Amino acid sequence: MEALPPRLVLATHNAHKVEELRRILGPALEGAELVGYDGPEPVEDGATFEENALIKARTAFAFSGLPSLADDSGICVDALGGAPGILSARFAGTRADADNRALLLERMRGVSDRSAQFVCAAAYVDGSTEIVERGVWPGRVLEGERGSHGFGYDPLFVPEGVERTAAELSAEEKDAASHRARAFTALVRAIRGGDPRG
Ligand code: IMP
Repeated sequence: MEALPPRLVLATHNAHKVEELRRILGPALEGAELVGYDGPEPVEDGATFEENALIKARTAFAFSGLPSLADDSGICVDALGGAPGILSARFAGTRADADNRALLLERMRGVSDRSAQFVCAAAYVDGSTEIVERGVWPGRVLEGERGSHGFGYDPLFVPEGVERTAAELSAEEKDAASHRARAFTALVRAIRGGDPRG
């Protein structure tokens, strides 16, 4: 496929992600329209980011009949064996970002290895093709929150090579490096190239 389909459904109910993805994908879309998704919540019962991203994209395709994009993402902390990982959004049980951050800080109290990575799997489903690509943003978890931009674990995460948290970066700076930008850039390239991976 040389060009993207003229209309693509973005299978997420998370307004922050929609906003980020519109910015990230904007230039690459070259006129393709990104439409929202208001169908049923998919059952995210996959064991990996990739499986969950595909589940969301398949659900949106089944509902809309249009080529669909979805992602699944989270933070994986080395000292916690990769947790909270695919459970990042529900880590504290309330789905509230502030509760999730508080629990992560509590679990990491006194832990000296602070290394972690944001991971995003981005999926595309159109009924004949399924593609999934992974993007990783390495860094470390701070001992307290800093910054007010972004969402989720951003105020606790300092990306490698930067001395600010993801919540202290501008939207443009985050988009230039983030796991979501890396995954979706690779995904759009693969859709265009007809790459059969996934
Ligand atoms: P998902 O909607 O199932 O992909 O859940 C993603 C969860 O991971 C979010 O609710 C956040 O807690 C966390 N997360 C994913 N990407 C980011 C990010 O870019 N910044 C901060 N937190 C993120």
